Amino acid sequence: MFDLTYKNKKIWKNGELVSWNECSVHSLTHTLHYGVGVFEGVRAYNTEDGPAIFRVKEHTERLFEAARIVNIDIPFSIEELIEAQKTILLENNFDEAYIRPIIYLGNESLGLRAEDLSVNVIVAAWEWPSYMDPESKQKGISVVKSPYRQYKNPNWSNYKITGTYVNSIVALQDAVAKGADEALILDNDNFISEGSGENIFFINEGLIKTPTTRNCLNGITRQSVIRIADDLGYKVEEGNWSYEDIIKCDEAFFTGTAVEVTPITKIDDKVISGGAVGSITKEIQTSYENSVFGIDNNSRNWLTYIK
Ligand code: PMP
Repeated sequence: MFDLTYKNKKIWKNGELVSWNECSVHSLTHTLHYGVGVFEGVRAYNTEDGPAIFRVKEHTERLFEAARIVNIDIPFSIEELIEAQKTILLENNFDEAYIRPIIYLGNESLGLRAEDLSVNVIVAAWEWPSYMDPESKQKGISVVKSPYRQYKNPNWSNYKITGTYVNSIVALQDAVAKGADEALILDNDNFISEGSGENIFFINEGLIKTPTTRNCLNGITRQSVIRIADDLGYKVEEGNWSYEDIIKCDEAFFTGTAVEVTPITKIDDKVISGGAVGSITKEIQTSYENSVFGIDNNSRNWLTYIK
């Protein structure tokens, strides 16, 4: 993914720009051993008025909230980390990119009781136009019900904490091994939760449904899509939905910073919406695109221009 040209790119590390290849982490870094770290996934788009980061404030606030939950005190302000995200795009000449801020604990000592560890902040960015197959957004993807359950501890469900992603990774590996594109993960009460890195929506007779945030990440794309659906005159019902509810849907789609709005056209053996992108899904997908590219006036305040 990172071809040779990336060796000339920079990564923002603890307030300085370091070269891509030299931005390494010590093997005794605490976060590597115990998973106590927090991260974000953010996207920048090349709009008519130049490159802009989509909802950077909300993403950065969520990063700070996640850090608070795992007792990490970030040694920068929200404003400083928003500036860092702009800087990394400008320095690397990216007009469109995926941005990955991550906070991790240092290697000053190791063990569960290690104290006074340094808090390290990285902001990297790379060009990542499609998270899945480039045709996924036009053709739709398949999912399979996962044998894994999301968030054994619901305290972690609303934060991007590195350690909690083990569950997402094994669920995705299981889905891919079964020939599907993504996992459909349920929670411990058997309600629909989310994908390995996406929120899920489904539509029944024109009514849009999505799980409550009790057991899924309150995705920023999820929140954007709820607003967009409302603008388009659709009702979105948040609730506890079962596998039986979703399997009889007319349309379904995933949302996320990486996948944006990606239609789901197959759940296990059941073909959804005739195997094609449903009309409401298409409408929401187009409207989301208009928002991230600054075409939709209603969503202009979601963009932070970098130049
Ligand atoms: N759920 C999980 C588990 C995720 O990792 C993500 C990606 N951050 C999402 C949902 C979607 O969140 P967002 O729209 O904020 O990217």
